[in-house]
Amino acid sequence: MLYQDCRKIVLKIGSALIAPSGDGCSAQYTLPIARFIHQCQMDGKLVILVSSGSVAAGRKYIKQAGNNPSLAQKQAMAAVGQNAMMSNWKRFFDKPCAQILVTHADLQNRESYLNIRNTINELLDNNILPIVNENDSVATEELKVGDNDRLAAMIAILSQADVLMIGSDVDGLYTADPNIHPEATKIVQVDRINDDIFAKAGGTTNHLATGGMKTKLEAAIKATTNGIDTFLFKGSKSQNFEKFVAGKSIGTRFIANSEQLTARKHWVKHTLTSKGEIKIDLGAVNAIESNGASLLSVGIRSISGRFDKGEAADIICDETNRLIARGICQYNHTAIEQIKGIPSEQFESILGYFDSDVVIERDDLVLMSDQSK
Ligand code: GLU
Repeated sequence: MLYQDCRKIVLKIGSALIAPSGDGCSAQYTLPIARFIHQCQMDGKLVILVSSGSVAAGRKYIKQAGNNPSLAQKQAMAAVGQNAMMSNWKRFFDKPCAQILVTHADLQNRESYLNIRNTINELLDNNILPIVNENDSVATEELKVGDNDRLAAMIAILSQADVLMIGSDVDGLYTADPNIHPEATKIVQVDRINDDIFAKAGGTTNHLATGGMKTKLEAAIKATTNGIDTFLFKGSKSQNFEKFVAGKSIGTRFIANSEQLTARKHWVKHTLTSKGEIKIDLGAVNAIESNGASLLSVGIRSISGRFDKGEAADIICDETNRLIARGICQYNHTAIEQIKGIPSEQFESILGYFDSDVVIERDDLVLMSDQSK
């Protein structure tokens, strides 16, 4: 998907663009990037920034770290540098910027996964730029997402983005490593990432960044197989942003693979075990089946079964007992029991908390067509 057709963009910016000299933040590349984000927002797009650079920005404060800093040294760099990196972005915007730091465990836990998504949606609704990074200071080596290319793909999937843009110091995927083989040419479009494409990727050479071409390809696989077009491009070249806004492709474009998108729906429908049943009225049936709506609490008549937030339940038509859909719930069964038939404005006063204004998000819901139950 190109600029004119996309609504939600996840933009990943690597350390080399934040701290090009490796010891602090610079506006050299970030200013044109901020201009691009501003342009997107003016054009009604929703942008989520995944920014690396905390380790690179904090490096100069941690003495004797050398080229191979220890885990503790890197975590300390991240702790001091995250602040500097956020301030570096903040100075370009007259709107607020929000910091979201996540760990691998947060993304694995279904409840926090949904919370992260709800937070991002809320920020976007309020015209605030979410800036995401890994919480490097607390994540242990084994529990790390590892690199921000992967993190950006996970955030793109979680936020149901249309496009993932990976801005780094490389111009795209080449037929061979251009540093070693000057005759290598750039691959403009990849329709499917296969072993041959993977063989073209090398490791990282930058000691401050964690990713390399391989991690970028892995991120592209993750995103494209979830229906998200991915662009790998040189973020230091401001013309790339202008070109993209003008509706052109940049760097290497990895085409979204819609067969895999169907596979995800297939998974929700056939593999995800339903832990309960939610019976809904005819108005809600119609909204879900004909208008592609989310499941709202007002249409719920009764529920049965025991399930947690993040687990799946079947949606049944109360009048006909027909199985309508299956979806991943935003609230657990006790909470739904309390809020059934009640508008979302009252959730907070009834539950004492508010997670989402819907019970099942449209994108977490798969229609079950005509199977009676
Ligand atoms: N989270 C790391 C940082 O902020 C960067 C990881 C990466 O570049 O992949 O420095």
